Amino acid sequence: MKKSSVLSVTLATTLAFGGLFTYTGKAQANSKLNELEQQQSDIHNKRSNVNESINQKDGEISNILNQQNSVEDEIEKLEAKMADTDQKIKEKEKQIDDTKAEIEKLKAEIKDLKERIEKRNEVLRDRARNIQQNGGSVKFIDVVLGANSFGDLVDRVSAVSTLVGADKQILDEQQADMEKLEADQKKVEEKLDSLNKMLEELEVLKADLKAQNEEKKVLMKELAAQKKHVENEKMSLEEQERVLKEQEAIISKAMADEKARIAEEERKAKEAAEAEKRAQQEAQAKAQEQAKAQEQAKAQEQNQAQTQTQSQSQSQSEKSTSAKSQTSGSTPSTNSSNDANLNAGGSGVLSWPASGRLSSGYGGRSGGTHFGIDIANAAGTPIYAAASGVVTRSDFSSSYGNVVYVFHPQLNLTTVYAHMSARSVSSGQNVSEGQKLGEIGNTGESFGNHLHFEVHNGPWSYHGGVNPMGYLK
Ligand SMILES: [Zn+2]
Repeated sequence: MKKSSVLSVTLATTLAFGGLFTYTGKAQANSKLNELEQQQSDIHNKRSNVNESINQKDGEISNILNQQNSVEDEIEKLEAKMADTDQKIKEKEKQIDDTKAEIEKLKAEIKDLKERIEKRNEVLRDRARNIQQNGGSVKFIDVVLGANSFGDLVDRVSAVSTLVGADKQILDEQQADMEKLEADQKKVEEKLDSLNKMLEELEVLKADLKAQNEEKKVLMKELAAQKKHVENEKMSLEEQERVLKEQEAIISKAMADEKARIAEEERKAKEAAEAEKRAQQEAQAKAQEQAKAQEQAKAQEQNQAQTQTQSQSQSQSEKSTSAKSQTSGSTPSTNSSNDANLNAGGSGVLSWPASGRLSSGYGGRSGGTHFGIDIANAAGTPIYAAASGVVTRSDFSSSYGNVVYVFHPQLNLTTVYAHMSARSVSSGQNVSEGQKLGEIGNTGESFGNHLHFEVHNGPWSYHGGVNPMGYLK
């Protein structure tokens, strides 16, 4: 015997037959889709990093281009300066040549003048000799011959007043010419020095400009190499970007395919569920038809029996009571059966799952409805499959204790065996009629060793147990 509250506890363990695969398939599909989404987001991040790097490279390239432009400007300026310096050098060289020619000319003039002075000097000496020979003062010739230089001579001669005024003037003029030429020569030589100095400076400047220009040209080469390097880096980034973009497109397509596949699977599962439901409904209708036919047959039998009994009642009135109790199987009393001859008189599609005493029947009893029958026997008594089928559940629950469900596809029935002490089959296993499923026990909400046995039309459903007596032999 067990309490009526037992079955309500098992609501949570509902097993939707055929639904298990669909659920698992859907979970797997979702995880695949999640994986694809993760991959896509990874690639998306990589792409934005690569694009950022490409932008950086563009910045570097434009920076190098600016540098190249500015260095080119500098080179242009340097080259203009160099050309200018070359021009100045040429000018200086020409000035130097001119100055040198001038100096040569002055030197020639000085030489010429010196010669003329020398001649005049000769003339003056002759005159002085003539004066001496014509009885002039002896002292005069001493004076003239004792002169140290031409200037000194002029001074001495003029001091001797014997010379004519014209001669004296010529000598003075020659003296002035001479001084002027010497001064001119000095000036021109100074000019030449200065020109040479300027030329030297220009040569230094030119060398400096040339060095600068060469430096800039080296810099230009470096910039060109840098630019090429950055451009290569950019090209490799663009290649990466292209590959990533292709990958992203492939994953997008894979995601679309996967979504379509899931939708198709769901559609098929729904179709299959509908088909199964239809099949169950048909089977149920068939079973109800059968039950109805059996009832009609039974009623007919009873009518015949009654007619017989009535006709024999006068002679055999005391024998009728014992026969009646054996055929009224739907709610048998606790004392109506024993180990040896359990007999339900049902359709007989199910065989008895265990031997024992029918301790509680199906239906209303004190405390609520009993959705199965109880077969009491000693612990360890074997429990057998009532028909061949597949184990859809082999588990322990707080209400049923050790319990086994078997679905019988041919009958479209599910049988339940509860409160077992031990189970000997597992979920998914095929079992044949009479195969041992476990042993009678007292597990779950049970009081005393017994088998609680239920029969369901189609899969197990909560409070869906029908009277097993209609199906048992
Ligand atoms: Zn029970």
